[in-house]
Amino acid sequence: SSSATANIGVVGLAVMGSNLARNLASREGNTVAVFNRSPERTRTLLVDHPEAGFVSSESYDDFVASLAKPRTAIIMVQAGKGTDAVISELAARFEPGDIIVDGGNANFHDTIRRENDLKPTGIHFVGMGVSGGEEGALNGPSIMPGGTAASYETLGPILKTIAARAPEDGEPCVTHVGTDGAGHFVKMVHNGIEYADMQLIAEAYDLIRQGTGKTPAEIADIFTEWNTGELESYLIEITAEVLRQVDAETGKPLVDVILDQAGAKGTGAWTVQNALELGVPVSGIAEAVFARSLSSKPAQRAAAADLPGPAQQWQADDADAFIEEVRQALYSSKIIAYSQGFDEIIAGAEQFGWDVQKGEIAKIWRAGCIIRARFLNRIADAYAEDPSLVALVVAPYFRNAVVEGEPAWRKVVATAALAGIPTPAFSSSLAYYDGLRAPRLPAALIQGQRDFFGAHTYKRVDKDGVFHTLWSGDR
Ligand code: NAP
Repeated sequence: SSSATANIGVVGLAVMGSNLARNLASREGNTVAVFNRSPERTRTLLVDHPEAGFVSSESYDDFVASLAKPRTAIIMVQAGKGTDAVISELAARFEPGDIIVDGGNANFHDTIRRENDLKPTGIHFVGMGVSGGEEGALNGPSIMPGGTAASYETLGPILKTIAARAPEDGEPCVTHVGTDGAGHFVKMVHNGIEYADMQLIAEAYDLIRQGTGKTPAEIADIFTEWNTGELESYLIEITAEVLRQVDAETGKPLVDVILDQAGAKGTGAWTVQNALELGVPVSGIAEAVFARSLSSKPAQRAAAADLPGPAQQWQADDADAFIEEVRQALYSSKIIAYSQGFDEIIAGAEQFGWDVQKGEIAKIWRAGCIIRARFLNRIADAYAEDPSLVALVVAPYFRNAVVEGEPAWRKVVATAALAGIPTPAFSSSLAYYDGLRAPRLPAALIQGQRDFFGAHTYKRVDKDGVFHTLWSGDR
């Protein structure tokens, strides 16, 4: 070790931390201090990457001494207890004005708590969402830092050098999202949207496969074609690659050999939990999370396998026309899923007092992260045109897209229902759309019921005030 030579440090050198450290070290002007609880990991990194010029330490004391002031250290360790353990080691050695950054997948409530705990010490705490997996960490992630504006003055210029750059204008995919937990909140919603997008794509694949009998490789070609149009995105691109993959052992399409039980690490569930608390209907994300849960219930699925469904396997009369309808249904549903995700960001910002720039969020998701897509430029444009837009789906571009896709969307959802093909995300997105545009909802009846059994009162359409009816069953 040497003293006070590094402008930035990384603690936690598993796959994410070591890749982020290498990314930092590859940018001009950075000298990167590295530390990991078990020194073997540090030694391996040094041996494998001498070109990085890392300043390494095998104790917290040496690591902290190797950082130039104000000290800035990014923690990339197992979220939860690991993060708290490292924070307390650093906080015991850092001074007022130093910056501790948590780049792990923390729950934003933990981030708010951690920042509050550190506030009296004068140490800045920045909860920072990092998206893009190990590849992103190494070559350019999308970065969502929260924390104080003052800490972003130090951190921002460093993060801009390592972030992904949007293909359209070369802008780095990082912005100061808002104070305290804003960064981790927005990263959470990013992951929720990712769940919805993946589920929608999976439903599109299933419909095409069952409705046209095309092979996974043929469907891969359809996705490749779609990736040249308005659906162009990383998830569509990798879907084609997954469908094209052949299992070396059996010669079958790999997708047919993979067990159909989807896993999850919890950020989708967090998104839905928080949406429930905020009262935001993120039905597309919720259905995507529940669809994974349903898939992972083998005993229930086995028990239900002989429940009745349509007698015959359904086939589309015109395969090409059906595929185009599915594409339109996918795009319309995707607009709803993103519209709902941004609603949750708006509600979270309001609830927790963050000044989140919606258009900036769309911009920093244009590269480096899993949901990167051409589409995000349209979202950024919509918020640039009207920063107080009440719902993405009513912005002119999206409205036009949905107007165009609506007939096909209905046809696909209806067809799926008749054919017995589950399309929870397509269907719930359409139901949300119809709910939103309905001139009158049966919510009036719900209010009547509530007043009947609980004297919860109701408002009237024709005069102000709060009313309660003396129902006959009320006595
Ligand atoms: P990980 O498997 O989540 O965690 C392993 C690392 O945490 C090791 O360096 C380990 O040190 C360290 N650690 C655990 N408990 C510790 C403690 N009490 N004190 C000090 N160090 C401790 O690593 P990862 O997969 O690289 O992920 C790192 C973080 O990034 C996690 O928060 C994860 O959720 C997040 N992540 C993000 C993405 C993304 O796309 N943004 C992808 C993957 C992961 P030892 O070597 O000593 O055990």
